[in-house]
Amino acid sequence: LLEAAQARAEAARDLNALVSLNPHAAEQAEAARRRVQSGEALPLAGVPVIVKDNINVTGTATTCGSRILANYVSPYTATAAQRLLDAGAVIVGKANMDEFAMGSSTESSASGPTLNPWDRSRVPGGSSGGSAVAVAAGLTPVSLGSDTGGSVRQPAALTGVYGLKPTYGRVSRYGLVAYASSLDQIGPFARSAEDLALLMNVVAGHDPRDATSLDAPPAFRAGTPDDLRGLRVGVIRESLGGNTPGVEAALNATLDALRGAGAVVGEVSLPSLRHAIAAYYLIAMPEASSNLARFDGMVYGARSAAPDLNGSMTLTREQGFGREVQRRIMIGTYALSSGYYDAYYSKAMRVRRLISDEFTAAFGGYDVLVTPTSPFPAFRRGEKTSDPLAMYAADVDTVAVNLAGLPALSVPAGFETVDGVRLPVGVQFIAPALHDERLVALAGGLE
Ligand code: GLN
Repeated sequence: LLEAAQARAEAARDLNALVSLNPHAAEQAEAARRRVQSGEALPLAGVPVIVKDNINVTGTATTCGSRILANYVSPYTATAAQRLLDAGAVIVGKANMDEFAMGSSTESSASGPTLNPWDRSRVPGGSSGGSAVAVAAGLTPVSLGSDTGGSVRQPAALTGVYGLKPTYGRVSRYGLVAYASSLDQIGPFARSAEDLALLMNVVAGHDPRDATSLDAPPAFRAGTPDDLRGLRVGVIRESLGGNTPGVEAALNATLDALRGAGAVVGEVSLPSLRHAIAAYYLIAMPEASSNLARFDGMVYGARSAAPDLNGSMTLTREQGFGREVQRRIMIGTYALSSGYYDAYYSKAMRVRRLISDEFTAAFGGYDVLVTPTSPFPAFRRGEKTSDPLAMYAADVDTVAVNLAGLPALSVPAGFETVDGVRLPVGVQFIAPALHDERLVALAGGLE
């Protein structure tokens, strides 16, 4: 299985889905083989997996798609990755990503852009584009990404696979390089609800090394159409309009399928969602400016030498970070500075609370909420790179979920033909906190 995955990775090199291959993969496969031979029952025995390049794995390079970590080799393994290994999985390699997970297209990586296998002139979404393409192009059956504002769900939608953002705290963040700690969550990509369930039962669960980890043992299973009968599904009104015709059609087809299976579909309004993008970026950027302060060339990664200490740190950050990362550190620092804190950061935190309360109210009448995952299918490479605000707007349907800490799943929902090419479209289901299992059951029911 490992050799097949490696051959597939080699054949799909032009997609640039991987940043590096794991030099210890053969040892891991051998260890799994020995454990199986000695009678151990391993849920992922020998299964090849790929993890995003911001997840530490001992002895592998962890670059986060950045020049500043070009030569960094992890001295420890993230809990989520360790759980994969403990379950018998083999880590084939590390997936390409937007630098420090900041982006929606996987174009800002120091290793170059990842291509969408459905149309190589288009982006795969981001920031976990490499992990999405790894599964969409069949390198491995499953992979891990991270989702701070949509980075698992949006690339899943744009490449035609499943992508789950778990409830904040269900998957340990220990060993995940932090972007915005109050929003970050590791999540799986897969091609079936069954594989999603299998993976979540392995990676989720309490971890004493992550203070925000929740003690909620995973109990995932792929559901059947029975799981849809009587299910109350609320379409979020604010997500309608502004979508391409193919996205609207895919959403409507999914709603028809749900009704056909006996679900009850209604519409619900969450008025504060129109402020979600603004609030998200005013929270994510300050957290990023603080988290990325550790990259100064003294302890981690590359150092650009200058005659004095401050000069070295400044030069290291100037040469090591790309434009988008620098922009966010500047804006984040500004939004936290005295005199602006109340106007920006604390106001964003109040909007975050409003959004969270509106979700809670909506779940009073519905079991799950539904929106498109993205207002449009995969866009062309370069189309949004010179306009940061257009890039941020790609997350309009996903960021509120992270602000509220909720679980959400992007489900493949059909295709939109653009310029003669079929591009995948995804639909997002959102559940109350800790009801991640409901989403995977629903996905199984829709298959
Ligand atoms: N595109 C969003 C951002 O740039 C989300 C990224 C993510 O989820 N890591 O912040």
